[in-house]
Amino acid sequence: MQLSYPMDPALVAIEHKVDEGIPLSMADGLALFTTPDLHNLGRMARKQKERKSGKKVFYVLNRYINSTNVCYAGCKFCAFAVDEFKEKDRVVRMAADVVFAKAIETGNNFNQIHIVGGHDPRQLSLDYWVPLMRKFKEELPHVQLSFFTAAEIEYMAKRHRMSFAEIIGTLKDAGLDNVNGGGAEIFAEETRKKICPNKVNSENWLAIHEELHRQGIASNATMLYGQIESLEDRIDHLIRLRESQRKSPGFNAFIPLAFHPDGNELNDCGWTTGLDDIRMFAVSRLMLDNFDHIKAYWMIQGIKVCQVALEFGADDMDGTHGSTDEELIYHSAGTSSGQYVDDREFRRLIEAAGYEPVRRNSTYDEFPHDWTPPEMAKV
Ligand code: SF4
Repeated sequence: MQLSYPMDPALVAIEHKVDEGIPLSMADGLALFTTPDLHNLGRMARKQKERKSGKKVFYVLNRYINSTNVCYAGCKFCAFAVDEFKEKDRVVRMAADVVFAKAIETGNNFNQIHIVGGHDPRQLSLDYWVPLMRKFKEELPHVQLSFFTAAEIEYMAKRHRMSFAEIIGTLKDAGLDNVNGGGAEIFAEETRKKICPNKVNSENWLAIHEELHRQGIASNATMLYGQIESLEDRIDHLIRLRESQRKSPGFNAFIPLAFHPDGNELNDCGWTTGLDDIRMFAVSRLMLDNFDHIKAYWMIQGIKVCQVALEFGADDMDGTHGSTDEELIYHSAGTSSGQYVDDREFRRLIEAAGYEPVRRNSTYDEFPHDWTPPEMAKV
């Protein structure tokens, strides 16, 4: 095809590598992050996305709950965590029956429940979670449990003096289907030490996900960008994920998470720009040749940027979140996204971008958009 404007020569060799299935290097990643040729970057990412998922773009009818915001890890970018003694009026700490009731308050027509929370000594234990997970599985067998991050799993492993394999085996028996991608932040050790010194380290984050995959539990991966990290840190992070996926496959989606500056110690970093967001989606799609999905999570970059991201390699828009007001992590840090997007809106945005909307669950099984589960027994 005749291009109407010249292509950045740095992109020509990279496109050839992508077309040949050759993994991109650190130097390639830097060229992608710095090219002024955003249009060809998008075209290359779109071509790679369409190799993976054709014209499909996925969304999930789900429920999202932050079951506790009590946490003492002290991550510098976090506006969500509270000290239960000093900030009593901000504490959210749900009893297990409240979590269940919230999940079903608008019915049972959803395919995923996504729960993450702080490192709360009174909630993050097997005594709390195993019975609740079993209840979800008994009452809502069509709903996949997308619970915890690697940070929470490490915390529970330490607390119960179990190995990663043992704690994951126990959670699997209780019904865990998928582990969320949070807690990855940025793997580069020097930067990580500055922004989240008390959280699971990079090596353990990757080891936990590799063990999840070995035991047949799916997971996702994230990266927090737009804080103090360098472009090299971003590419290093993507390369480590790609290597981990090669070693122990099981990641479904990569989700770039834009830093939000309100109410946290890294406030000076400010907001990411729309162009940085779009570039981040495209570079992720091109670097992560062995990930099937790149997710544009409307809660983070905003629904309009996420729709544009579909032209830059993303093939997933995450979920409806139910009609509750439970997302606290990004809302504490200043997101102006709402709490809920309905499935009709997802389909409208995806179709307007020229793609086919596909309803999914955590593990990307596909459903007709009007699929409904059997009626629930009285609980
Ligand atoms: S990011 Fe997570 S682990 Fe870190 S302080 Fe916030 S809630 Fe705790």
